[in-house]
Amino acid sequence: MTNALTSKLPNVTTTIFTVMSQLAAEHGAINLSQGFPDFSAPAELMDLVAEHMRAGRNQYAPMTGVPLLRQRIAEKTTALYKAAIDADAEVTVTSGATEALFAAITAVVRAGDEVMIFDPAYDSYVPAIELSGGIPLRLKLRAPDYCIDWNEVAARISDRTRLIIINSPHNPTGATLEAHDLEHLAGIIRDRNVFVLADEVYEHIVFDGRSHQSVLRHPELRERSFVISSFGKTYHVTGWKVGYCVAPRALSAEF
Ligand code: PMP
Repeated sequence: MTNALTSKLPNVTTTIFTVMSQLAAEHGAINLSQGFPDFSAPAELMDLVAEHMRAGRNQYAPMTGVPLLRQRIAEKTTALYKAAIDADAEVTVTSGATEALFAAITAVVRAGDEVMIFDPAYDSYVPAIELSGGIPLRLKLRAPDYCIDWNEVAARISDRTRLIIINSPHNPTGATLEAHDLEHLAGIIRDRNVFVLADEVYEHIVFDGRSHQSVLRHPELRERSFVISSFGKTYHVTGWKVGYCVAPRALSAEF
């Protein structure tokens, strides 16, 4: 008997990142397609990591992450976004933002639930939605500035919609959400059983004097949001794959 494995995700092919990175390597081109900073991580960070490894801190951390790290994440988040965070109940350290995105999506989405995403969307969202039996509801960002058309969101949202995934600053367009965008979002989902997944891995890469409008700045949205960050992006050490999720107690427990 031969074993046949039918794919659970037959529509997933080689990611655009792999395709473009291979092409860049082949042609000796500058690779703008994937996060490959051409400058090093801070020497102090590397020294500290090496110091802690040599000191023997290489075994399992608590499931939600090292308590002191969660405490520091909570402090940082409070300082930046004026949100009070309970380090023990609301912060979870993950294997990169990728694991956090997957965990948040699978925590919320059940068979038949619709998940609103905005194209071009980061490519790990749809497989996670589909593995959970969810249905991606793909809306287009509006060129030329790639903003969200909130009228369309209001028109397309329904009782089937369980989750809205936003990404600001946005990969790949670089567009950022403004405070008024968060107001629109809050207004649209106020009386609905909808959660928000805010992919904010590029929170520290904002230009032109703007400030990052984290969902955590918005008390009403914060109550129903998973907010995802990535140390890989922030400290340009993408290979380390360390990220975290900030979410209210009940959502973090499920996460
Ligand atoms: N979200 C977005 C928008 C990204 O661009 C990336 C990395 N390319 C991730 C999430 C994943 O981050 P990490 O490397 O921490 O898993």
